[in-house]
Amino acid sequence: MNQAITAGDLEARLKAIIRDVPDFPKKGIIFKDITPLLADPGAFSEMIRHFAAQFKGAGITKVLGIEARGFLLAAPIAIELGAGLIPVRKKGKLPYKTVAATYALEYGTDTLEMHEDAVKAGEKVLIVDDVLATGGTAAAVCALIEKLGGKVAGVAMMIELEFLKGRAKLGDRPLYSLIKY
Ligand code: AMP
Repeated sequence: MNQAITAGDLEARLKAIIRDVPDFPKKGIIFKDITPLLADPGAFSEMIRHFAAQFKGAGITKVLGIEARGFLLAAPIAIELGAGLIPVRKKGKLPYKTVAATYALEYGTDTLEMHEDAVKAGEKVLIVDDVLATGGTAAAVCALIEKLGGKVAGVAMMIELEFLKGRAKLGDRPLYSLIKY
């Protein structure tokens, strides 16, 4: 990465590329659509290298992506860090034995699962997703890693919706977000 580019420069550049889609998936939500960023080879690779640089040297051995957009970011970050990749999926999708976390949504609940052997005791794990909104999803995934004896070395979010105060749900776990609204 060109070291002359600051996080602020990169944030402004990426903000100009990310598309706001009002009232998706329901009225009142402004959906942050990252597909134009994924389609821009320069911006995408710069963003991935920027995230990897934040966590280089932290001893991370696994990068965990949250279904589905988290997969698209976690995989290239894992390769940059020389770490393995863990997919966290919606209930019923993973073939082997799983551990599950159920968390509250605005209406009802949702369940995420990971394989029970995905994290070894003491392993340092980086969680990756596109958007931190209320923080419920990321907090549930932190709990899964810790249940298996792993350590959450960081939570990396491309976008943080600060007005929803999701950061508070993560407690002391270190959160790095690049683009803030
Ligand atoms: P939360 O558990 O509230 O932090 O929600 C996080 C999950 O919902 C992430 O997987 C996001 O991809 C998705 N999400 C929540 N709000 C938005 C939004 N405004 N735009 C795009 N994705 C969102």
